[in-house]
This record gives sequence, structure tokens and C-alpha cells, in this order.
Amino acid sequence: MDRAIEEYNHPYGFEGYRTSRGALRHAALSLTAAYWQGVGKVDYWLRKERIQFLYMHHLFPPDEAGFRHLLESLRATHQFLGYSEAVQRLEQDRIDRPYVCLSFDDGLRQNINAAMILQEYDIPACFFVCPGLVGERDSVKLKEICATRFRMPPTELLSWAEVEALVAAGFEIGSHTMTHQVLAQLSSTQLTDEIGQSYEVLKKRLGEVQHFAWPEGRYFHFSDAAARAVYEAGYQSCASAERGCHTTQLLHLDETPILRRDYLPAHWPYEHVLYFLTRNSQRAAGH
Ligand SMILES: [Zn+2]
Repeated sequence: MDRAIEEYNHPYGFEGYRTSRGALRHAALSLTAAYWQGVGKVDYWLRKERIQFLYMHHLFPPDEAGFRHLLESLRATHQFLGYSEAVQRLEQDRIDRPYVCLSFDDGLRQNINAAMILQEYDIPACFFVCPGLVGERDSVKLKEICATRFRMPPTELLSWAEVEALVAAGFEIGSHTMTHQVLAQLSSTQLTDEIGQSYEVLKKRLGEVQHFAWPEGRYFHFSDAAARAVYEAGYQSCASAERGCHTTQLLHLDETPILRRDYLPAHWPYEHVLYFLTRNSQRAAGH
């Protein structure tokens, strides 16, 4: 298992495999971030008023020290916001300082460890879960789900009792579809099953659900029909995994507000986090 985690987290292969291209990218990000820091660019752009959404999936035990470092570093330059508050601030155009907002996709059981660490720092987060997969304990099915849908080593998923414990601890729960399907490939009936049904199940079990994030997260994994289904189902927000931060305006896909989120897992070197945050802030300002 440790070897599988190491392979999955290897910095030379951002998708969990080692490639020479990944090694070059790693070196280029580190060099650029070091140069930007040297010329004061990082400090300048990190002080800009904006909301930066960040998301992760996993937090294996070897990642926990990196996660603490990430939280402590971000806290020195940003204020953490709960997910609903971040969405409200965007809608009301109340972005008066640098903010970050954390979320976790897929509903892995190790989210409990992340939540315990977040509680120590009093940092909020939203956990996007797939209600059709919550509580799955069959090891053969888990292995298949992790391999084909999450592309990661076999990992346990949250139970309903654990999801409810997260809510009781003050965290938010969002929908990540019923069963983690790529929405761009689905018919309108299937979209209703994956998006609308997950809204109904979560609302019934947890009392409310406001936020949605689609699996895989790139625009080509989504569609205009899926975007309409999200808001028709009753969700208040819809998140991608397209990199970027928000200043005043949400980006739109077929006139539907879409949140940008950056994937910045805890095991990445912090210079890489700085690279993406700086680049996003520059781009949001039109640079
Ligand atoms: Zn996912």
C-alpha cells in the first residue's frame, strides 16, 4: 500500500505515473516560482483581493505534514472561507481581501483525517460526495471504483454515519453526482439520475445540499445540458476543476455560473502552489 501511495503521489508524474515530461514540468514550476519569489512577484500577487477555490481528493497519512504546512502557509496570506460564504461573496461582489476556500472531491474515508486537521486550525471545507457510492464496503467493488473512476489505489469511502459526523462538525457536504460519471457522455435521463437524484438523496439524508462539483472537472467533461440540470435540480453553485481564481465575475458556460477550482494536493511542493496562485491572480487581473 505504501508503495502504491508513493507511486500515486510521485511529483514527477502529476497523475501518479513517472514521465520525463513530468520531471521537466516539476523543475520548470520550481524554477519559475523561485524566480517570481526572488523578484517579489509572489508577495505582490498573493495580496490581491480575490477568491481562490482549492480542492483535493486524498490525504494519505504521509501527506498530513504537507497538508499542515499548506494550511499554515496559506493562512499567513489569505483568509479561509466556508464554501457557502465564498459563493455568497462572489454573488454579492464582496471580495475585499485575499480569500481561499477548500473542498474535497470523491468522499474518501481519509477525508475524516483531513477534517480533524482542519478542525485544529478552525478552517472550514466542503466535501463533495457521491451518494450512490457512500458506504460501499465491498472490497472488489471498491477496487474497481477506485481504479476506474478515481484512478487511485484501493481506498475506503465515507459511510453515511461519517458524512453525518462531518455535517455535525460544521463542514458542508456537496454533490459530486450519484456515481462519479463523466456527465458529457450521458443522456438527459442519465443526467437527471446523476445530478437530480443526488440532490434529492443528500437533501433527504442531510437536510440540505447547496453545491455541486462535476467529476473530472474539465469543461470537456461537462455540457450545457448538464449545467442546466444542475440549476434545475436546485443547487446554488456548480464547480469545475478548471484552474483560476475569481475577482468579481463568475465564468459562464452557457450563461450558467461555473466556479473555477485549482487542484493542489497536499503532497505537492509549496513552491508549486505558489506558482499556480500567483499565475491565477495575474490572469484574473488581465496580465
Ligand atoms: Zn471526482
